[in-house]
Amino acid sequence: MKQLIDLHVHTISSGHAYSTLQEVIQYAKSIHLPMVGISDHAPGMPGGAHLFHFFNMRILPKEIDGVRILKGVEVNIMDHEGNIDVDQRLLSKTDYAIASLHPPCIPFGDIKTNTETLIKVMSIEGIQVIGHPDDERYPLDYDALAYAAKEHNVLLEINNSSMNGFSARSNSKEVIKDLLSSCKLHETHVIFGSDAHISFDVGNFTYCKEIVEECDFPMELVVNHQIDKLKQFFPKIFQ
Ligand SMILES: [Zn+2]
Ligand SMILES: [Zn+2]
Repeated sequence: MKQLIDLHVHTISSGHAYSTLQEVIQYAKSIHLPMVGISDHAPGMPGGAHLFHFFNMRILPKEIDGVRILKGVEVNIMDHEGNIDVDQRLLSKTDYAIASLHPPCIPFGDIKTNTETLIKVMSIEGIQVIGHPDDERYPLDYDALAYAAKEHNVLLEINNSSMNGFSARSNSKEVIKDLLSSCKLHETHVIFGSDAHISFDVGNFTYCKEIVEECDFPMELVVNHQIDKLKQFFPKIFQ
């Protein structure tokens, strides 16, 4: 099954990642990944990229060395009102946005508060993906989350880095099983994301593939290998 896209990739602009844009592209090309999305951390994350970084992405070519470059952002959810750290003007300029819960940007809430927060964020225009909803420190009602994601035409991410043994997120492998079971029940689409912080991890979906197989999750609900589904969730990319 040919993977077409990895939308969750960090460069040195994120402050705690180690590869340049060019290294990311070279690596994507070497693994024959046709499309790569750059989603550096927005300014709410300590060390994250400045807003100017995102506005200036207009200078990036659409394609470099045969690899299609998508201009994205991983925004931080800053409070339980669902406020994020970039505004509509920026979201209208990016090709896509992932919204995520990260310490220290937002405190660990209870299950009801966290779930309501993510559902509020799904209504923000320009947010297409909820990043790594798989951290036991931010407990979530997966049934409600999967139902709402489907209603809002938003993807839930299956994050490879959460499962690689280096992540600060808690008990993700077990939590992702609950997430997948709720997505299967509600026929909610998901997207694999590497969350690469170094070029060699771009397009690495090893653990994502393992867990969907283990959970007998239907591949029709994973968008990475399906161009028609990618068009449905990311119309801007294909304009
Ligand atoms: Zn990061
Ligand atoms: Zn993140």
